[in-house]
Amino acid sequence: MSNYKHILIAADFTDHGDAVANKAKELAEANQAQLSIVHVVDNLPITDANYGPIIPFDGDLTEELMNASKKRMAKIACEFGIAENRQWLEIGSAKLEIVRIAEENSVDLIVVGSHGRHGWALLLGSTANGVLHHAMCDVLAVRLKDD
Ligand code: AMP
Repeated sequence: MSNYKHILIAADFTDHGDAVANKAKELAEANQAQLSIVHVVDNLPITDANYGPIIPFDGDLTEELMNASKKRMAKIACEFGIAENRQWLEIGSAKLEIVRIAEENSVDLIVVGSHGRHGWALLLGSTANGVLHHAMCDVLAVRLKDD
């Protein structure tokens, strides 16, 4: 088994996120690897319960989503002991941004959930599938069940 040095959690802030982060942390400890986290805010955001309480419509919605995401990210990072310089909050296409962050930071394993917000009807969610196809490094899809 290869020794991973830098493991990246792709966090979509759904309820299943903990299972993905737990697996990544477990692997980071076993490999004595660095643990990082990335969340990507969609280019064209729509309101989404996963971002927390109601987002006002009168401001810049993307900015509001970024602020809400920052809080979510800080909470998860604190829970999993991830330093601020290993937290990435990006705007754009989730699969492309996850892969870009991985490449720019010499990540050798990306951990995603098999499904998130978009993928329950599919064998593998669209983001997970996209990351798997575009990444240069290993990708682990943690099997999540819709229960
Ligand atoms: P999906 O393809 O949307 O079903 O999501 C599958 C997995 O991709 C999720 O469990 C996350 O690990 C990851 N993912 C999806 N959307 C995002 C996002 N916006 N930011 C970071 N990771 C994401």
